[in-house]
Amino acid sequence: MDDIFCKIIRKEIPKEFIYESENLVVFPDINPSADTHLLIIPKKHLGGIQDLTKENKDLLVEIYSVVNMLVKQYNLSGNLYRVVVNGGKAQHVPHLHFHLLGGVWKKFI
Ligand code: 5GP
Repeated sequence: MDDIFCKIIRKEIPKEFIYESENLVVFPDINPSADTHLLIIPKKHLGGIQDLTKENKDLLVEIYSVVNMLVKQYNLSGNLYRVVVNGGKAQHVPHLHFHLLGGVWKKFI
């Protein structure tokens, strides 16, 4: 696929990853909406929530365990934090991704 996240995952566009596993990458949002704004992105191309099936069960568990790890790493547990997945017209990059937002909000995403 040719979306920006696929290109980053294939390392065609240089990007420093905060975390990488066989299935996921994590890096900061280029245009942060909060003090902490990280993107957790499956390497496998899924267009969005609409492409999730029971086959992605393990992937979803891995995503939320990485969220948990990041919450600890960024000291968010005693702070405000939220996980957001945009869909439909609220989604701008057509590759499933999870936003982890923490601390003070700058804008609505
Ligand atoms: P969406 O609206 O699809 O849920 O969110 C897409 C997010 O990806 C936006 O918050 C946007 O700032 C971020 N984004 C788009 N292109 C890039 C990029 O090239 N690098 C990074 N780090 N973030 C990006």
